[in-house]
Amino acid sequence: AGTYGTEFFVRWLEAVAEAVEREADRLTELDAAIGDADHGANLRRGFTAVRKALDEEPPTAPGAVLVAAGKQLISTVGGASGPLYGTLLRRAGKALGDDPRVTRERFAVALGEGVEAVSRLGGARPGDKTMLDALVPGAEGLKVSFAEGRDRAGEGALGTVPLRARKGRASYLGERSAGHEDPGAASSALLFAALAATAGA
Ligand code: ADP
Ligand code: MG
Ligand code: MG
Repeated sequence: AGTYGTEFFVRWLEAVAEAVEREADRLTELDAAIGDADHGANLRRGFTAVRKALDEEPPTAPGAVLVAAGKQLISTVGGASGPLYGTLLRRAGKALGDDPRVTRERFAVALGEGVEAVSRLGGARPGDKTMLDALVPGAEGLKVSFAEGRDRAGEGALGTVPLRARKGRASYLGERSAGHEDPGAASSALLFAALAATAGA
């Protein structure tokens, strides 16, 4: 099996930043329906800072790339999604340690640890109509292949449409949160789509 080095992880986060730019309006529209219409802007601010930090101080290991990105998301995104995505990447990065190259399988396990940390931090589980509805199946699928991670995360995000939100701002709407895709689940699906694209899957 192939291994992935620092450069791959930098390219992944750049691809996420591009996807967030491209999809910012859609993410904000989803958040306008069941939240406060800032998810696109929040992630745009966060990933612009990630790009800048990776450019100015290039990390020297995959784990360090993820930790550096996570720190930027925590410190620049005001919304709930900043600390949650920041925790995801920081925890995954810490799990990778300072190994110069990692396999997809190893990354999938590390990302799974990050997903668990997101669940502990926010108190949400799959079915609560949050980013976890895409992150959990995405990280599981990544154990199989990059394409499987992308496909399962995308399905998970679409699967949030009929759900009623039990965490985050959207939960204030109660039953009225049903009928809309969760914005954080939609952006999580972008993370996995960018990963598969970066891997050429
Ligand atoms: P805010 O709600 O503070 O404006 P964002 O709009 O950037 O933050 O992000 C909203 C997204 O964050 C939601 O769509 C949901 O996916 C995610 N989210 C909110 N609270 C939680 C939580 N407790 N656990 C997991 N994800 C959450
Ligand atoms: Mg919001
Ligand atoms: Mg907000």
